[in-house]
Amino acid sequence: MTKMPVLFVGHGSPMNAIEDNIYTRTWQDIAEEIPKPEVIVSVSAHWFTRGTKIMNEAEPKTIYDMYGFPDELYEIVYNSPGSPEFAERARQLISRVSVFDNSWGIDHGTWSVLVHMYPKRDIPVFQISVDANAPAADHYEIGRALKSLREKGALILGSGNITHNLRLVSWNMKNQGFDWAMEFDDFIGQNIYDNNHQNILRYRELSKAANLAVPTTDHFFPLLYPLGASDAEDKITVFNKSGELGSLTMTGYLWE
Ligand code: ZN
Repeated sequence: MTKMPVLFVGHGSPMNAIEDNIYTRTWQDIAEEIPKPEVIVSVSAHWFTRGTKIMNEAEPKTIYDMYGFPDELYEIVYNSPGSPEFAERARQLISRVSVFDNSWGIDHGTWSVLVHMYPKRDIPVFQISVDANAPAADHYEIGRALKSLREKGALILGSGNITHNLRLVSWNMKNQGFDWAMEFDDFIGQNIYDNNHQNILRYRELSKAANLAVPTTDHFFPLLYPLGASDAEDKITVFNKSGELGSLTMTGYLWE
C-alpha cells in the first residue's frame, strides 16, 4: 500500500464550507493530487477536551458547533461512514490514556474542509480530540504514535490555524495578516522546513509573536499531529500561505 501523506489545513471561517475561493480551491487540488485515503483521521481544533478522546461510531453524526451563520451552513451533512476498526488501532497506538467517546461528532473544523476535498463522502472519517491540558510535546507524541497508520492508507489531517486570535480580527483585512500574525506563521514555517520540530514545541519561548498569535492553544495544537506523523524524508509543500482578517493565517502544509 502507498504510504499516505500527512496534512495540516488552516480552516479559517466556517463560511469556507460554502464558499468557492482561493483556499477551498487549493484544498480540492490537494485531494485530487494525493492518493485516495482508506480512512481519514482528523484532529480538529473544535474538539478541545479534558483528556484524549477518540470517536468510534460506525455512522458519526455531523455537528454544528458554530453560531450565527447562514442557514445553508446548518444544512450541510457530512455523512461519511466512521471507522471503528481504525479508531481501535489508533487507541492502541496512542500510549497515553485515551478513551472512546461518541458525545461529539464530525465538527465544522473537519467538514468545512472535507466538503471540498472529498465531496462524495465515501471515505470513512473519525476524529481524535485535542487534550486542552496536555503540553505541546504530548500532542506531538500522539502524532508520532499514529505515524504507522500512514502505511495502512490513513490520511492524518490536522485542522486548525497556525495564527488564530479572534479577539483581534480586523474585518477589512481580507487576505491580509498583521505583522505579528505573519511573523509567527513564518517562525513555524521556517522550523517545519528545517525539520526543527523541537523549536516548534518551544514556540512560546522562541517566538515573541506567540502570545498574540496563540492566545489559546485549540487552533495551534492540531498542527502538532501531522507534524509528529511526518518523516524527515517527506517532501514538504506549503499552501494557502496568507493572513486573513489580520489575526488569522490560513497556511497549510503537506508532507508526502
Ligand atoms: Zn476554527
